[in-house]
Amino acid sequence: MITAERVDQVRETVAEWRREGLSVGLVPTMGALHEGHASLVRKAAEECDRVIASVFVNPTQFGRNEDLDSYPRDFERDCEILEREGCSMVFHPEVAEMYPEGFSTYVTPEGGMTGCLCGRSRPGHFRGVCTVVSKLFNITTPDRAYFGEKDAQQLAVIKRMVRDLNIPVTVCGCPTVREADGLAKSSRNKYLSPEERRDAAVLYEALQAGRRVIEAGGGHAKSADVLRAVRETLERLPSVRIDYVEVVDGESLSPVDMCGPGTLVAAAVFIGETRLIDNFTV
Ligand code: AMP
Repeated sequence: MITAERVDQVRETVAEWRREGLSVGLVPTMGALHEGHASLVRKAAEECDRVIASVFVNPTQFGRNEDLDSYPRDFERDCEILEREGCSMVFHPEVAEMYPEGFSTYVTPEGGMTGCLCGRSRPGHFRGVCTVVSKLFNITTPDRAYFGEKDAQQLAVIKRMVRDLNIPVTVCGCPTVREADGLAKSSRNKYLSPEERRDAAVLYEALQAGRRVIEAGGGHAKSADVLRAVRETLERLPSVRIDYVEVVDGESLSPVDMCGPGTLVAAAVFIGETRLIDNFTV
């Protein structure tokens, strides 16, 4: 596996692969890799001749009071996982390589897609995400790029950006990988104390309660009933503070009164200081 820290190194390698007629998959990550990330790399390796993973804790997607400085970093371990899963090149730039002195051009998603869900409590987050992902697309020019359904709003916003800006890449969503008790794997789970970790399973349980309401209605239900089921389950644990529970259209992210195929049910909670998100699509 090649390790590249500079944009020109990536470009040279990709140009060589292109001369050989090879296809390229991209898996953007912020490192502290786990089985969720590994599943994306594995999928990319199945579908593409060469896989590039980026490991970059992107400062522009963190708010002022968020965990940029404490975000877990373990590049050596990340490389072991990436190599094992069939990654061909890891791109691990310094902040100055991605945001050189005088950097002043951003990709900002406008409209309703970022005024809801995580966008509401993390203003500017998706501007940072779209900016870094479009830079990564420009640097690596992948045929396909792999993102987790765990970050459902991110996936929808990136699909929209790719469509709106005519970026020649196929965006592939991959299913959420979970712990045995249902908790979605996340680099931020490391922040949880043992008690918080035990309580964190309630997020998945609550979403399952919402799913059961929809199943009981034969695949359809009033959003208000689904929201109530999710909230009631979350509220049973005093250690859980709800950031949001929302029911929206999975593509446009507009609120819907009725749940049916394609509806996204998503929630974010704080357990202690740690913010966790999860969702399911009907
Ligand atoms: P991150 O390093 O948190 O920015 O995540 C990098 C990519 O991995 C994103 O596309 C995430 O949606 C995806 N991802 C994170 N956790 C999981 C998971 N548990 N299952 C599947 N994909 C995930």
